[in-house]
Amino acid sequence: MAKKHRARCACGAVTFEFDSDPDFIAECHCLDCKKASGGEAAVFFGVPESDFTLLSGAPKAFSYVAESGMRLDRNFCPECGARLFTSNLESFPGTVFVQLGSLDDRNGFAPKLEMFVKRRLDWVEPMRMAQFQAMPS
Ligand SMILES: [Zn+2]
Ligand SMILES: [Zn+2]
Repeated sequence: MAKKHRARCACGAVTFEFDSDPDFIAECHCLDCKKASGGEAAVFFGVPESDFTLLSGAPKAFSYVAESGMRLDRNFCPECGARLFTSNLESFPGTVFVQLGSLDDRNGFAPKLEMFVKRRLDWVEPMRMAQFQAMPS
């Protein structure tokens, strides 16, 4: 049976699904989100690894050490380059963080907090939600 939420890369080669309605949905202004997304910030949310099912394609993982000193894998489609999710996070074992834009239906996935606001650029207005200088504590 198909799971509740379905996601895919820009070319459609990589698809995945999950059932959980995420609780942690963040807009992140860190430098890595800027570099990896090509924009000012990225919105992502946490899904339990046990609920995350890859349906098709073979995402490529780029492993790196974040500003926190913890390692994680950034997964993207090797065909179209779309950033999809991060996994194997030393700082959040058992959780996959999915990029909002990869969802087929993004309705109902509004961020609940803003993080790394110390990296937010001057022309971006703070949103009316919890604000964290770096990682939420
Ligand atoms: Zn693709
Ligand atoms: Zn970030």
